[in-house]
Amino acid sequence: MRIGVLAVQGAFAEHISTLGAIGVEGVEVRLPSDLEDISGLILPGGESTAQRRLIERWGLREPILDLARSGAPLFGTCAGMILLADDIVDGDPTTLPLLDIGVRRNAFGRQLDSFETELSVPMLGDRAIHAVFIRAPIVERVGPGVDVLARLEDGRVVAVRERNVVATAFHPELAGETRFHRLVATMAAEHDDPGEGSGRRHHPTRRTGLAR
Ligand code: GLN
Repeated sequence: MRIGVLAVQGAFAEHISTLGAIGVEGVEVRLPSDLEDISGLILPGGESTAQRRLIERWGLREPILDLARSGAPLFGTCAGMILLADDIVDGDPTTLPLLDIGVRRNAFGRQLDSFETELSVPMLGDRAIHAVFIRAPIVERVGPGVDVLARLEDGRVVAVRERNVVATAFHPELAGETRFHRLVATMAAEHDDPGEGSGRRHHPTRRTGLAR
């Protein structure tokens, strides 16, 4: 199984190496043809305006939307979360509006540009996630079909999932955290072979031991 990492701009190399650490081949995606043989796609951090322009210029928008509509998992970190949002509070146009959320870019302002914290993500087990935030967005609106995966201590939402689309405002790939990538790999395997194992009702987190 191969998982693509959008490689038009930003921190894609770290996602490729995190996938490698869990034994999954990561493929750099720059052209629509790179999307043909992958089972899921990661949208990395970086600069979302630059990424949006390159996605449009290189004809990646429709084929990425098709991949998502096929049920393959998409996972956006930071700028990737902004690209996946249905609305962007400061008015930037949407790119791949697949998540019923509203985000605010650079939500932590100048004083707290970048920070690290421990986050509880119950879906990924008891052990806290070490989360690295770099000029991160915040989720200000969460639609009814969206699961909140993590919040800051003050209650603000920083990780979400809507069906096959997952997004974090922070960077698990910069902290040696592999559980989000394992989740995406599990979702991709189930997308490739929905009847695998004990069947469709099999709980996706069990097989990879995400809860450990
Ligand atoms: N501030 C960037 C943006 O708005 C995102 C930063 C990141 O991806 N680390 O696009």
